[in-house]
Amino acid sequence: MTTDPKIPYKIYLEESEMPRAWYNVRADMKNKPAPLLNPATGKPMTAEELEAVFCRELVQQELDDTTPYIPIPEEIRDFYKMYRPSPLVRAYCLEEKLGTPAKIYYKFEGNNTSGSHKLNSAIAQAYYAKNQGLRGVTTETGAGQWGTALSMACAYLGLDCQVYMVKCSYEQKPFRREVMRTYGAKVTPSPSDTTAVGRKILAEHPGTSGSLGCAISEAVEAATSQEGYRYVLGSVLNQVLLHQSVIGLETRAALDKYGIQPDIIIGCAGGGSNLGGLISPFAGEMLRGERNYRIIAVEPASCPSLTRGRFVYDFCDTGHVCPLAKMYTLGSEFIPSANHAGGLRYHGMSSVVSQLYHDGYLEAVSVEQTKVFEAAEYFARVEGILPAPESSHAIRVAIDEAVKCRETGEAKTIVFGLTGTGYFDMVAYQRYNDGKMVDRIPTDEELEASLATLPKIGG
Ligand SMILES: *Cc1c(COP(=O)(O)O)cnc(C)c1O
Repeated sequence: MTTDPKIPYKIYLEESEMPRAWYNVRADMKNKPAPLLNPATGKPMTAEELEAVFCRELVQQELDDTTPYIPIPEEIRDFYKMYRPSPLVRAYCLEEKLGTPAKIYYKFEGNNTSGSHKLNSAIAQAYYAKNQGLRGVTTETGAGQWGTALSMACAYLGLDCQVYMVKCSYEQKPFRREVMRTYGAKVTPSPSDTTAVGRKILAEHPGTSGSLGCAISEAVEAATSQEGYRYVLGSVLNQVLLHQSVIGLETRAALDKYGIQPDIIIGCAGGGSNLGGLISPFAGEMLRGERNYRIIAVEPASCPSLTRGRFVYDFCDTGHVCPLAKMYTLGSEFIPSANHAGGLRYHGMSSVVSQLYHDGYLEAVSVEQTKVFEAAEYFARVEGILPAPESSHAIRVAIDEAVKCRETGEAKTIVFGLTGTGYFDMVAYQRYNDGKMVDRIPTDEELEASLATLPKIGG
């Protein structure tokens, strides 16, 4: 299917852009992402230690820094076929409206019921849990997209699904909650009194509306304290980025089909998995010295881990029950202001994306949410799709780059990831439409305060 000699033909299904294997960009990285550390010993987590929390096969994928292509089991491919390959769309109307010579393409991941790219990893993780003979999985969800995707995948495979949902989302997004319950998930607002760590956080911060880091701590405890359960996570981890490489592989194949060579690749960055998945094959070409691209990660100005964070070992969760990861981080105690792009409100960034950024393979920019919603509204009006606030971060920068092309007359080819739809984000759109949306950017002092709590471990 592909004309690129470096991508073996056999990894794609005949007559489709859908791959048979995921691409593991770590195999081509000279500087591998740093290993997860055990907070108690400061030593790299062993497979055995990780298997107490995560599914066995997923632990293998997490630790595998050398195998470039990892086959996608047939059952997962069959599930993917319900909504993949996802469309790669040329944004003709947007180009025309902007009057730009740039060619703009977007890879649209909102075409499934869960409404985002997260289903790509949810089905894989649920599959490996089922294969291991587990009863169920636990997880956290912030804005609700990951919980929705996982509920769908678990319903399909007949697995029990327990979701700790950040309390403010639980209250503000009742419809998300009901979608998950309809798919059979048990949804608990976090922090809750169902776990020891939840009770501790509630005692220390009564009335807290919760955070992702806090919900993670509760979900991990729920997994390790019940027989036959493991914890699964929707972003940040190497394994999730691996599953999301399906986005990039399909994009690569579709572009090859039409002989298109992109110049700029743009993605929004929360925990880094969608961006990492989209750019993986392209970053692989850069790492192997074959081609160059401008890759841009876009993050919210309210939670700027790449642009203002530090590249150090940090806790992945507020309760400090998870391993330490080396990543760009704002500190695990950083609580971002109430930005409406809930999926981008995580204090850290995937170790793979962090390492690639550190080594100069990608750029990062942060954007304010009012500017993001301007772009979302513009895009909705000309291209028809109502985008998720998270995805709209990438739209913002794609538009900015296309406008630059108008000024310089360069006909660059821009590809961006449109990670999902915004139908459950109408409260945010309402704020914007009513002119009530404000930008809250942390001050240097606020960032210093949370960075001061970084663990002194791992250098
Ligand atoms: C979760 C989410 C994101 C953030 O994805 P990461 O892989 O964590 O960076 C972006 N867009 C949408 C629609 C999401 O649901």
